Order: sequence, then C-alpha cells, then structure tokens
Amino acid sequence: MNNNNYPTRSPAEYENRVKTIVPLLKNVLEMLGEDVEREGLIKTPERWAKALLDYTKGMEQDPKQHLQVIFKLDEENYPNDAQDMIIVHNIQFTSTCEHHLAPFRGTAHIAYIPNPESKKITGLSKLSRVVELFAKRLQVQERMTQQITKAIEDHLNPAGVIAVTQATHYCMVQRGVEQTSTSTTSTSRRGVFLTNPDLEGKFQDYLRIELDNSKF
Ligand SMILES: [Zn+2]
Repeated sequence: MNNNNYPTRSPAEYENRVKTIVPLLKNVLEMLGEDVEREGLIKTPERWAKALLDYTKGMEQDPKQHLQVIFKLDEENYPNDAQDMIIVHNIQFTSTCEHHLAPFRGTAHIAYIPNPESKKITGLSKLSRVVELFAKRLQVQERMTQQITKAIEDHLNPAGVIAVTQATHYCMVQRGVEQTSTSTTSTSRRGVFLTNPDLEGKFQDYLRIELDNSKF
C-alpha cells in the first residue's frame, strides 16, 4: 500500500477506515448471494474498500495546494489585449458518478486569460492536478466542471476561465439503456468568457487546431 497517495490522512486512520469498511462490504456481497469465503472473493472486500478510498481521496484535498505555485509573467505588454489565453487540452480523468458509484471517464480542456493587473499564471501541470483532485470525489460531471473553473477563479483571479469536459458514463454503458457510444459534454465559463461570446469561439478554434495536429 502506498500511503503517499493520502497526504492528509494518516496511515493509522487509513488502516482504521479500511478495517471498518471491510465487514460492511462483506455484507453487501452476501446480500448479492455470494459466498464470501470462496477463493476469488476472500480478499475482495479489502480491495474494494481500498479502491473506494482511492476513488474519493480528492475529498480531503484542497485545490489551493496545487494552485499555490504561481508565476508572474513580467513581460511588459502581457497579456496584450486581455484576449490571449493559456490552454491546456486533453487532460484525462476518471471520476465516480455519485448516483450509481460507477466510473465516468473522459477529457477536460481548460483555458484562462490571465488578469492583466496581477499577471498571475500557474504551472500547466497544476491544472491537471486540479482536474484530478475534483475527479477523485463522488461526482456529477456538471458540478465537477464548475468546481474546476471556480478553483482557478478563486486562486488565480484570471480575467476569465473556461472548462469543457467530455465523458463516457459507465452507469449508462453497463446498465439500463446500454448506450456504449454516447458521451456527455459539460461547460463552465467565468469572467470575460461570460461577457464576450467571441472568446468561446476562439477557444474552440484552438482546440480544433490541436485536434487536427494530433492526427499526424
Ligand atoms: Zn450514474
């Protein structure tokens, strides 16, 4: 077990949680009619408990920890006309749907326009950390997308920020309607992205260029 994955949770507390959850999950398997003593299932409650703690480890993390490392872009004319955006696209994520506890996985694309006064920017990898942090919670995709832009707005105070997420929900794939190829798109805009509709078009143009390039 790698406790480094749980920076805010002590190893003792982690073990304690696993110990408490295991008998409950054993019960669930029994209620499904399973023999929990058979070889294939004997360690399943423990693995399942650890997996659940892993899927939700972002609950105990604060986005501030990733957005603290902030650079000031000291170029005189930057950003030029408050329309130059920083884009990180194709951030992969896997999250857990809170209605069915089934995974949903996909990609996030984020752009922000730095504040012309503060000129604050963050490391590009930090944006994927923020996506990861909100993905590792029991989620609905729409809320996750909003939380991503809110965290960026709160900590970087940009002129504007936009996030688009696209995901496949396994609660739809595996059960009920069995739609294997549908994906869900959700967007969140803040700041100048709300007041200037041209900016969203620009963002989409940049994403299209990236997608075309990725074909080579
Ligand atoms: Zn669901």
